[in-house]
Amino acid sequence: MVVLQSRVDSPALQTLRANFAVAAIYFVTSALLDHFFSALGLFPAPFWPAAGVALFAAFMGSWKIWPAIFIGSFCSNAILFGSPLEAAIPISLGNMLGPGIGALMLRHGLGRWESWGLREVLRFLAFGVILHAAITGFAGATTIAGFMAFDAWAGMFVRWFVSDAAGTLLIAPPAILWWLDRRPLARERLGEMAIIAALLVSIAASQFFVPAGNEAFLGLPYLVLVPCTWLALRFTPRDACTLFAAVILIAVAGLAAMGDTLTLAGVVRVPIPGLAIVGGMLNVILVGALMMERDAALRLAALDDLTGLPNRRAFESRAEQEQARARRYGQPVALVEIDIDRFKGVNDTYGHAAGDRTLSMLAKLLLRQLRAQDVVARLGGEEFVALLPETDMDRALAVCERLRAAVAAMKIEYGEQSFSVTVSLGVTVLLGSDGSIGQALARADKALYRAKAEGRNRVVAAEN
Ligand code: GH3
Ligand code: MG
Ligand code: MG
Repeated sequence: MVVLQSRVDSPALQTLRANFAVAAIYFVTSALLDHFFSALGLFPAPFWPAAGVALFAAFMGSWKIWPAIFIGSFCSNAILFGSPLEAAIPISLGNMLGPGIGALMLRHGLGRWESWGLREVLRFLAFGVILHAAITGFAGATTIAGFMAFDAWAGMFVRWFVSDAAGTLLIAPPAILWWLDRRPLARERLGEMAIIAALLVSIAASQFFVPAGNEAFLGLPYLVLVPCTWLALRFTPRDACTLFAAVILIAVAGLAAMGDTLTLAGVVRVPIPGLAIVGGMLNVILVGALMMERDAALRLAALDDLTGLPNRRAFESRAEQEQARARRYGQPVALVEIDIDRFKGVNDTYGHAAGDRTLSMLAKLLLRQLRAQDVVARLGGEEFVALLPETDMDRALAVCERLRAAVAAMKIEYGEQSFSVTVSLGVTVLLGSDGSIGQALARADKALYRAKAEGRNRVVAAEN
């Protein structure tokens, strides 16, 4: 038996392989959709997911993927639709340039997707969807209808534009998010996802059970906006987009299977769920972006301006999580309160700005001295707190003694002045009987008070 040696492929080979894969996926996507929509006699198809495949590929692979888009489109046109070369070539050029240029403009300045907010999403819509669909629509309409009969040209352009925009909206965001965001699926909420999926499918399917003559019910698909909003509010954008796209693919596959048997009434009903679906996806993307902005704002609000450390509120919620975890695994967690000695004197002697410098230098020292899993926060004023997971009282006292000595040794320079400060520390360990983190904070506070009373610049353990 021959064992293939694993080796690192050259970049050229990787590009070639990526091109082959993209061309093949583009072709298969076109073939599936063509089977469905030509059975309905619709040209151009009202929904063209190959455009989304192309935008995704161009976004991830830049211009190196352009040949694949051209080839995928060319094969689709020449083989599937039997277009002559003089039509297949310009249409494929448009299909390549639209997503290609859209993706180039998108990539520029978008940054890490985790920090995408409304602005980036609008940019995605402007370049990835509108510009892209306009370029492909122009190429398609000009090739098929020519410039001469404007009405025919405009009609073709609009249909081409809509189908590419819809295909891009539905395919590109979930594909890009899947690729970039490696966070695992929220398994603990699979049940909730299944309920939303069932709702989406039933709303979409409801369209085909509306008896003739009840046109009022044709608006039912717009109800998809409800589960879509739920999705966007409760799940990461990646999970929301993925679930939504999966449901759409199931729905499209179902429709494709019914393709030959759909009546004209069915054809009339296709654009309504189609528009509702596009609206739903837009909703998922926009609400998702707003949620990301809100999360970023909350993260900022939870940080103290001067030191960049979490504030009291942020600390309490983090500490409560740690407390729950410690309880589950039976691990000791230590809590330390740290207060600068005679800090009022620092402000009075060196000025408030020197006092501020002291606070931010102390924060940096605490972060440097403690471990990554320890939580450090500013409780307020010149009072800090540290939570040390997997640390018992003996180890905590050793850590605190090291901190105390490090602070005393720290030179603080401000302008011409140079001085140092000391801190007092009160230490406790979380107890199973602690109802809230507040009880442990109160014990540490009492120990800190004793440290002050006993002369400052020292560590005192709380009596648990
Ligand atoms: P003790 O040793 O008993 O802790 O004495 P202390 O002077 O440190 O105690 P006290 O709590 O009475 O004083 C705290 C001072 O910290 C009062 C306040 O002016 C100052 N302070 C609080 N927040 C800030 C801040 O953000 N910047 C500066 N520069 N000073 C602050
Ligand atoms: Mg103080
Ligand atoms: Mg104080």
